[in-house]
Amino acid sequence: MTKPNKGLAQHFLTDAGAVQKIVRAARVHANDLVVEIGPGRGALTGGLLAQSDSVVGIERDEALCDFLRSRFGCGLRLRKQDVLEVDFFELIRGEGFERAILVGNLPYYITGAVVRRILNARSRFKRAVLTVQREVARRIVATPGSRDYGVLSIAVQLHAHPKILFDLAPGVFYPAPRVYSSVIRMDFHRETRYRIQDERFFFRVVRTAFGQRRKMLKNALLGMVHGEMEILNRVGASADIDFRLRPEAVSIPEYERISRALKASFQSSGQIHESR
Ligand code: SAM
Repeated sequence: MTKPNKGLAQHFLTDAGAVQKIVRAARVHANDLVVEIGPGRGALTGGLLAQSDSVVGIERDEALCDFLRSRFGCGLRLRKQDVLEVDFFELIRGEGFERAILVGNLPYYITGAVVRRILNARSRFKRAVLTVQREVARRIVATPGSRDYGVLSIAVQLHAHPKILFDLAPGVFYPAPRVYSSVIRMDFHRETRYRIQDERFFFRVVRTAFGQRRKMLKNALLGMVHGEMEILNRVGASADIDFRLRPEAVSIPEYERISRALKASFQSSGQIHESR
């Protein structure tokens, strides 16, 4: 067995109880397609294969791919690939399924990028059970008013119900990471939870606001109206939002009201907004 590669964030689960809890949380049925990100030495893979014959593993490390092939044979459909290059739509359709269950003890150095890709392909997933750094899990589930609430919370909660299931101490991994981890489940719904008129513009507003999260909204958003406080006052009144609030106190529906009012103000003044 090759030594764990730190560059690929290889921390392998060694605790049978933790493995069992994660597999159970994925609620896999025999006719489900499961996609596992970073199967590593197969700690979770074995449990997943016991539930379903259709498990696809995406593993970047060549030596681990050899190991997984020798351990599971062709029972595991293995892709030696960088998960950030996987087209989930093509993968899942290619396997003959409409939707899949995603499981992954994620390599921490790409957690944010992986979560973004999962959200982009959310229509292809029933749910995702992910092991992430505890601090990231808290940001994902945070609600308005909390210090952890931010762009990541909003991005995930717009399309999914995320829940922290349990924490994992460093000692259940080999080698032990320096931080605690949490296992989260995200249940995706076919219907979006919130009706967002222009998602790109919405995120432009959200990112701008959280870019200066310590300021009041009226100051954090001032750059979007080229410093014209008059315009912001009208937007705040039309959206029925107190712009003295701080960005972390504002809910998703409230950000949507701000986005709509701001966009309407751009449109009425003939300003063409750039969504990016
Ligand atoms: N699932 C295994 C477990 O729980 O024991 C391994 C988890 S380990 C934290 C992360 C795994 O992701 C490693 O096997 C690593 O080689 C793999 N990995 C790292 N970067 C990757 C990438 N960009 N694409 C696919 N797999 C990657």
